[in-house]
Amino acid sequence: MSAPRYRPLKSCTCRVCGCTDERACEGGCYWIDAEQTLCSSCAGTAADLAYSLEWITMLRLRHGARESDVIAATINLADEALKRFAKRLRAQRRRKV
Ligand SMILES: [Zn+2]
Ligand SMILES: [Zn+2]
Repeated sequence: MSAPRYRPLKSCTCRVCGCTDERACEGGCYWIDAEQTLCSSCAGTAADLAYSLEWITMLRLRHGARESDVIAATINLADEALKRFAKRLRAQRRRKV
């Protein structure tokens, strides 16, 4: 697996796989977030986690001056990404049982 490329957040385009309303993922997907930047087939995947970490790095570069802002955003993003990851793991476990 190659490292995910950084994609700027664009509304109605999945930040991980790049799917849109017109071109959904195979089997269909729906938006996870209100901004419509993350779809259901990517939420909680390793790529989603990796992207979130890259986004944190971006924030760091952009808001380098205000360390407190970066810390708050980092906690938020990491928290959200981990929650999605845990949710996906639980769903997978349920399917196997
Ligand atoms: Zn996606
Ligand atoms: Zn999708």
